[in-house]
Amino acid sequence: MFSAIRTRLTPRSTRAQLTLWYLLLPAGALAAFAVFVFVARARTLYSELDAQLELRAQQQLGEVRPALLELDVVEALSGDRRLTENAIAVRERSGAILFRSPRFPVLGGVAEATAAGAARDGNALATVEDRFGQQVRLATIVVDRTGAAPLAIQVAAPTEPVRHILNQFAVVLLLLFVLVLSGASYGASFIARRALRPVDAIVERVRAIQASSLADRLEVRTGSEELDGLVATLNAMLDRIEQSMRSARRFAADASHELQTPIAALRTAVDVCVCGSRTAADCRAVAADLAIDLDRMSTLVRDLRLLALADAGHLVDRVEPVDLTALVHECCDIVRALAEPAGIVVSVDVLSDIVVNGSALPLRRALLNLMQNAVRYSPDGSKVQITVSRLDDEAVLAIADEGCGIDADDLPHIFERFYRADPARARDTGGSGLGLAIADQIVRSHGGRIEVTSTVGNGSTFLVLLPFATASDCPPRRDTPATMNAV
Ligand code: ADP
Repeated sequence: MFSAIRTRLTPRSTRAQLTLWYLLLPAGALAAFAVFVFVARARTLYSELDAQLELRAQQQLGEVRPALLELDVVEALSGDRRLTENAIAVRERSGAILFRSPRFPVLGGVAEATAAGAARDGNALATVEDRFGQQVRLATIVVDRTGAAPLAIQVAAPTEPVRHILNQFAVVLLLLFVLVLSGASYGASFIARRALRPVDAIVERVRAIQASSLADRLEVRTGSEELDGLVATLNAMLDRIEQSMRSARRFAADASHELQTPIAALRTAVDVCVCGSRTAADCRAVAADLAIDLDRMSTLVRDLRLLALADAGHLVDRVEPVDLTALVHECCDIVRALAEPAGIVVSVDVLSDIVVNGSALPLRRALLNLMQNAVRYSPDGSKVQITVSRLDDEAVLAIADEGCGIDADDLPHIFERFYRADPARARDTGGSGLGLAIADQIVRSHGGRIEVTSTVGNGSTFLVLLPFATASDCPPRRDTPATMNAV
């Protein structure tokens, strides 16, 4: 509830919040200082009043002492004209009043009892109220008499003058407080406005940067380390957004370009078949070509979907221990069918019981892409060597071929989407330029990486490094998600 009230009372604008804080701090300090000064002043004034009262009481005692030694004290005091000018009373120790000068305040019941009590107890100082409700300070002196009972002399003085001075002092302090506070509020809003000016500039600049002007950057000089850091972070974010927008655009353009060729072939084939002058045998031959193009298209669409899943982070939805040894053997068997017609020998040297964490289907897809590439880009009768070994806490799968190799200029780009070092050759072999990009995404989503070394004319070696499985990495099994089937 307390926080709800605070939330409601706290202004939403940062400028207003800063102003409030800049204002509250000096206001609090000033208020504390004013209270301290006021209390100190009040104590001084009341101490001075008490000191004066005690002095007056001593003087009065000096004047009335002879009368107090008389047999008839009341008679002697009443006859003393000097006492009429002073507020003085003489009491017995019991508190009973013997003499009261006309100036001595008339006390009500409670105040009279207090005054009598002060005489009885010998209290030097006490505060009482007269019957008009005005505060009166009393100073009491006990006088011992030889051969007679001691008496108490009381001298009174109103506290009103002190209170009057204090009231005036409070008004001055209040005026000062208001004055300083209005000055501080102006200063606080000025400082807040100045401090937030660079933020306004940043907001304005960021607003001006649209999707079409993503190459623009913030060039705001703030003069503040923190805000400069914010500008740098925003610029870095814009870099990333621009980069991903650019690759998304390029990806869409490349994808549509890739689909354009088979669609055009389809269109031509359909035109040929429907023109009427073709025989059924001609149409069957055209349909056979059509089937190849359709296969290419469906492979491409499947690859695009896979990459879209990878971009959305849904490539590996289920993690479980995967027997890499068995998976490599399985993939080799598939690739051998591709290699045998070309007389390419695929040899395998795999350590047993290599287990990694991940999802078997996507991993199978990645390994197949790499192994198929090794066969595709190798000359007839060459050798492809596949090994699995351990290196520290990683499993290392090496696929080495004796193929054409990859040029050093192409090497940094081969994992990019739709990149083909030799487009004509790649298209002949049915490649879409997505195989390595997919393999790279899959391996990275398993916490691993792919490294490649290649010499033109001598062949290439692709290394897949995957961390070994640990029990804690494996979450409980879930139902097979749709994404797995897509792989
Ligand atoms: P593609 O479908 O064209 O094979 P990939 O993404 O699998 O696409 O490979 C990208 C490019 O890298 C290929 O076009 C090819 O030029 C080159 N490449 C990949 N693997 C090999 C290899 N084992 N030997 C030579 N070049 C390779």
